[in-house]
Amino acid sequence: VHFMPTSINPATGETIEDYAEHGSDDIERALANAEIAFRDWRRSKATARVDLLNKIADTLEARKDELGRIATLEMGKRYKEAVAEVEKCALGCRFYAEHGPEMIADKPAIGGPGSENFVSYLPIGPVLAVMPWNFPYWQVFRFIAPAVMAGNVGLLKHASNVSQCALEIEKVMLEAGAPQGLFQTLLISSSKVEGILKDRRIRAATLTGSEGAGSAVAATCGSEIKPTVLELGGSDAFIVMPSADLQKAIDIGVTARMQNNGQSCIAAKRFIVHEDVYDAYLEGYKAKLEAMTLGDPMDEATDLGPLAMKSGVDDLASQIDASVKAGARLVTGGKADDGPGFFYKPSIIAEVPEAAPAYRDELFGPCAILFKVKSIDEAISLANDSDFGLGGSVFTQDKGEQERFIRDLDSGGTHINRMTASHPAMPFGGVKRSGYGRELAAEGLHAFMNIKAVTRD
Ligand code: NDP
Repeated sequence: VHFMPTSINPATGETIEDYAEHGSDDIERALANAEIAFRDWRRSKATARVDLLNKIADTLEARKDELGRIATLEMGKRYKEAVAEVEKCALGCRFYAEHGPEMIADKPAIGGPGSENFVSYLPIGPVLAVMPWNFPYWQVFRFIAPAVMAGNVGLLKHASNVSQCALEIEKVMLEAGAPQGLFQTLLISSSKVEGILKDRRIRAATLTGSEGAGSAVAATCGSEIKPTVLELGGSDAFIVMPSADLQKAIDIGVTARMQNNGQSCIAAKRFIVHEDVYDAYLEGYKAKLEAMTLGDPMDEATDLGPLAMKSGVDDLASQIDASVKAGARLVTGGKADDGPGFFYKPSIIAEVPEAAPAYRDELFGPCAILFKVKSIDEAISLANDSDFGLGGSVFTQDKGEQERFIRDLDSGGTHINRMTASHPAMPFGGVKRSGYGRELAAEGLHAFMNIKAVTRD
């Protein structure tokens, strides 16, 4: 079958548009443009990078309603959340505009052999970003904002179901005054990625997506000695201890699982609740889910929209069905919604045995998994009994327990009495099969820079 990037409205199942795939001439032109753009941009002053980042933020803010609507139509997130996502992209640009210059300024070494010893932060070159559909703008701006500040240039291979978002991002960059070639969108199938990674003009790659995609891109980059940052899946724990503010843990727990219609890598997926508060937690959580309104993501009254793709509904349904078959208890939901569109009812499964898929696999949709534990030790070992280690939340007022969670949870983030969320000021990434490297903060900026040692006599 000839690959064709296609946008489908997940709320109706109707095709919005088929896009023509870029051919090898388009790819060659983009690589050549990137190389030319990098020649100039690498020498740009920090002030020019700051100006561009602020203009990108202005453009995003001015167009946020329109961009929000496009994301809602293409991947089904609620309009309100889509607009908030565009605002967050602007925030990311403003963060690097404000703090980036300090992060890339020469840094004196502690000691060193020369009369003068310092570290200089230089751009690395054109970077390929392979991105997923779930936060079609934020995933990309989380890469672009530091790339602009670093003096790099970017090429984007976005997920095939969000081509319009991908093209709009390129437009935003040009409208904001980015030089030609600084950021380019390629509408290509994933089979074209390997050839691009092997091209000498591409110096590094960043990928957010599934383990399979991450491992394929990293394998190619490994054979070419090119650095990668991988942000992959997660099955984050959300731990509730007896001292927790229970209502807060219920409210935040529902948002942390159901935001983005249940499709977030850092969603709370495994709720690990102490036996003293388990029944109350389950009851409160269930009541909230059963009160949720499923429907049109453009409608303000909707609490939960569709999944982005039909395959998302099918995958979730088969994981839940198999888990129930393996002995898990279905507390609520557990089925797709009738009618057009890719809807699945908000669901809870509990008492999930180790052999059930839901114990180990990531559920990328609106289903919470509840576990009952007797102690903090059991909570920690259950949370860590996962191949993933992205984020995680703990709800407890006990300082000693908080310190143990910070030290002992094997993940890229621990958020106390808060939900896991990315923020431009905080490094973002995981351990184990959730990936490696960090985005955002100074770490994300430096990930794609040549950290040069300079000594002088
Ligand atoms: P995929 O990995 O299929 O898609 C992500 C991107 O990778 C797409 O652009 C896709 O292109 C591309 N891709 C897929 N296979 C390859 C390959 N072999 N070589 C090169 N590129 C490839 O992810 P899903 O669409 O399934 O997204 C959901 C997954 O992503 C979940 O596991 C989720 O947890 C993870 N994720 C992680 C996040 C994080 O920040 N850690 C954030 C969001 C999602 P195409 O669409 O053309 O196939």
